[in-house]
Amino acid sequence: MAITQTKTIEQSLTIEPHHVDRRRYPEGVAFMDGQYLPMSEAKISVLDWGFLHSDATYDTVHVWEGRFFRLNLHLDRFWGGMQRLRMKLPYDREEVTKILHNCVALSGHQSAYVEMICTRGSSPTFSRDPRQAENRFIAFAVPYGSVANKEQLDRGLNVAISETVRIPPKSIDPSIKNYHWLDLVKGLFDAYDQGGESALILDTNGNIAEGPGFNVFIVKGGSLQTPAFGVLPGITRHSVFDLAKEIGLPAEAVDVSRAELSEADEIFITSTAGGIMPVTKINGLPVADGLVGPVTRRLMDLYWKKHSDPIWSTAIDYRSQQ
Ligand code: PLP
Repeated sequence: MAITQTKTIEQSLTIEPHHVDRRRYPEGVAFMDGQYLPMSEAKISVLDWGFLHSDATYDTVHVWEGRFFRLNLHLDRFWGGMQRLRMKLPYDREEVTKILHNCVALSGHQSAYVEMICTRGSSPTFSRDPRQAENRFIAFAVPYGSVANKEQLDRGLNVAISETVRIPPKSIDPSIKNYHWLDLVKGLFDAYDQGGESALILDTNGNIAEGPGFNVFIVKGGSLQTPAFGVLPGITRHSVFDLAKEIGLPAEAVDVSRAELSEADEIFITSTAGGIMPVTKINGLPVADGLVGPVTRRLMDLYWKKHSDPIWSTAIDYRSQQ
């Protein structure tokens, strides 16, 4: 289906209701209901199932120095999620790629956090039957953000383990990227109460699962391990497996117990929002010698180098809309 534009892009970006204070929104460009809009104007109905029931899936890809990083993997995951949730878009993959490109190009951001969302939508009769809802697509590009700030990236994060259990995979398939975050947010508050900067929460068997917006890896005896069960298969986690293979580092997805985490040689977390980020304290206690380890540093370095590699990244053309 062709992308309909009821206003020109330029018109859309300049029209602004008087009551909107643009300073309260990050600078960026969104696409919804067939139009490109400033972030301050991108709003959904309170009747959308995405808002009322967290009935939505989404994906986040980043742009670094003018290039999308591994966009195809993010699109694969997004499409897989929509399929399993029985959602359909009026746009195909190529059209979504163009929309994402245009959001970034119009925003002018060289480094951006780019989200694509499909909500269940709503039905004109407020029907309780999800089959009657019209699915809605939203995309936006805002400035790049990271789980860890510069200082935390240099010295490593202090992460606390919360007793909170991640929603079971039999309830919500974690491979469908979703907004069921009450467990993760509770974990974050638990972590703050313990003096931590971020959190790891548990799977249904009491092993380590993941944190708010990130996966976790441990380094032990020169090999990598990451939780296998009850976690989102992160694209950055995927990239770590690819990098480990390239440099001959053994890596596996297995159960990771709390004891194994505490006894690790190194720990790092992975997210599109920040890449590979070192953790040097767990529950306030140093991980090994408490310094960012050599394996973590090497992987961080390789990961960022890949951002200019055309096999891993694609350039944005800022002069044109597609
Ligand atoms: N786990 C959860 C719950 C997430 O929400 C995210 C990203 O938002 C991740 C892990 C990391 O995934 P990715 O590396 O694809 O950003």
